[in-house]
Amino acid sequence: MNGGRDEVIATAGDMTTAVHAGNDTRGAAIRTPITMANSYHLPPNPEAVDWSGTDDLLYTRNSGANQIALQRKLAVLDHGEDAVALASGVAALHAVFFTFVAAGDHVVVSDTTYEATWKLWTELLPRKYGIEASFVDITDLDAVAAAMRPRTRMVITEAIANPTTKVADICALGTLTHDAGAVLLVDSTFTPPPLYRPLDDGADLVVHSLTKYINGHGDAMGGAVIGDAERIGQIKREAMVDVGGVISPFNAWLIERGSITLPLRLGQHQRTAERVAAVLASDPRVAFVAYPGLTSHPQHELALRQFGGRGFGAMMAFAVDGDPATQNRFVSHLRVITSAVSLGHDESLIVHVGTDGPRVAAYPEPFRRFGHLRFSIGLEDADDLIADLVGALDATFG
Ligand code: PLP
Repeated sequence: MNGGRDEVIATAGDMTTAVHAGNDTRGAAIRTPITMANSYHLPPNPEAVDWSGTDDLLYTRNSGANQIALQRKLAVLDHGEDAVALASGVAALHAVFFTFVAAGDHVVVSDTTYEATWKLWTELLPRKYGIEASFVDITDLDAVAAAMRPRTRMVITEAIANPTTKVADICALGTLTHDAGAVLLVDSTFTPPPLYRPLDDGADLVVHSLTKYINGHGDAMGGAVIGDAERIGQIKREAMVDVGGVISPFNAWLIERGSITLPLRLGQHQRTAERVAAVLASDPRVAFVAYPGLTSHPQHELALRQFGGRGFGAMMAFAVDGDPATQNRFVSHLRVITSAVSLGHDESLIVHVGTDGPRVAAYPEPFRRFGHLRFSIGLEDADDLIADLVGALDATFG
């Protein structure tokens, strides 16, 4: 401890916390240095060392100076007791499933999630480990309650779903999940702090793809789970030390550095997203826009209440009025917005997702008819993004 400084930082404002939380100021440097080492000095008598321990500096698969700094910060940002940082968002999701669900168990999964979550629960985990999964419309609380079984161990949802932007009611899901004796896992990648902190609303564990907003600069992959010390400790011992999907010290350092400006970036992302969504929604050449900030969004009121007026994120899905070739033509006319996967970067990213594939069956009707363009609004000037979109619409529709 450092004279109560950690406690002051942990309860300070969003920017103060983002700048200072987790920063290791015990050495000569005023910021946590990068420690590119696989191993750390043992004590004079190593007999007492816990070789599976994750608290002391020992071996980088157990703990490392940069992982620890990042984990401390993530726990503070998301109001958790502890956090574990791993190699990617998918590694973090898998670590939770591996640690808390076993053969013969059952989980309830939102019917709309990031593709890898969907694949893990439709194909890989049931086939390889005999775990059953029920897919439900997470906005239908009666359907969620009806899906619960005696062996239901976990309810899995995204706060705002990739890609349809469906919003889950985390408070209500927390109550339902806990009544059934299960654990609520919320993937909050689209809704990082300070926009939303699912643990405050009754979630047990929160996952982030750090690759996205928390790093924010599109140059490092990582994932994290945040929650109570006991569950996070179990994930560290079982899924980190003994399965090994650890984050590299350099990526942990990059992500910790990127996260310093998270509240500032998120504010800019969101302000621009609200303007862009309004422009797209009012253009007759645009078939539909899904963005929780629009009053036309089915969960707009819930989003307003749940995110406490702090915004609606900066992810949207839309389609121009036309077939898949028209969507591709529109994207080819963009000059500022980049056609590439990923999201939450400084640059705006757009990806044309087709209408095919079994996941699409659960999507709203316009997604099935037109396909969609998943759009991550970056940090460029809003006027430039709007000009780029309108220019591409003009070029596409003549
Ligand atoms: N969760 C969500 C909601 C995502 O959108 C993604 C990636 O796009 C992931 C998890 C996976 O993250 P990563 O690519 O870091 O493994």
